[in-house]
Amino acid sequence: MKCDQCGFEGEIKLFKSLSFDDAVVILQCPSCKGDVCTTTMEMIEERIKLAKDLSQQLVKVVEANDIKVAKKILKELTNLNRSLFDPALEKFIKQMYKRITPPYSSSKQKSL
Ligand SMILES: [Zn+2]
Repeated sequence: MKCDQCGFEGEIKLFKSLSFDDAVVILQCPSCKGDVCTTTMEMIEERIKLAKDLSQQLVKVVEANDIKVAKKILKELTNLNRSLFDPALEKFIKQMYKRITPPYSSSKQKSL
């Protein structure tokens, strides 16, 4: 995502969305606070890309058992999916939540 007014370039999550409709999204540039216009399609493509990156990161973090970071990424993914409505991503988020929250802490193996 790039700001036409000051040339600031950064991840889409840095831009605050001011309005969102079927075709056009108005974002606020974090650098100059100016309005940046983008089409919804473009924004969705950026978000899908970001969601993929985050998902890959999340798998690594969960494998490393870094619950704190995993929760942070899950939160971001949940926010992203509010505009993506991707059922596969939704399922993935739920699975990952389960993996980092064991249902019974007492059933955890101590032999390791
Ligand atoms: Zn700007």
